[in-house]
Amino acid sequence: MSLSCARCGHHIPVRGLETAEARAQLGGAARESRVRAIQWLVANHGYDITDGKVIMNHITGEAMSGERQCYKCGSTDIEDGVPCPQCRSLVLDW
Ligand SMILES: [Zn+2]
Ligand SMILES: [Zn+2]
Repeated sequence: MSLSCARCGHHIPVRGLETAEARAQLGGAARESRVRAIQWLVANHGYDITDGKVIMNHITGEAMSGERQCYKCGSTDIEDGVPCPQCRSLVLDW
């Protein structure tokens, strides 16, 4: 599977992150250290560093419960993995 962001035009291959568990693990790692989270993707799932960085750029700064907000424009009512209706950024709330 893959995700794409209409705002920045990135197309992101997703490998090894199909489950909610793996996504939560990556989200937690990303909020602690983006560099380490990228290394984890490279070592465990064969990502290249560029794709890893792109994923990091789309993960929300905090895991959100209830109301989800776009990290880019602040719009609310965002769905996970779906582009923001305002600015078209892909929002990964992992
Ligand atoms: Zn983007
Ligand atoms: Zn937005």
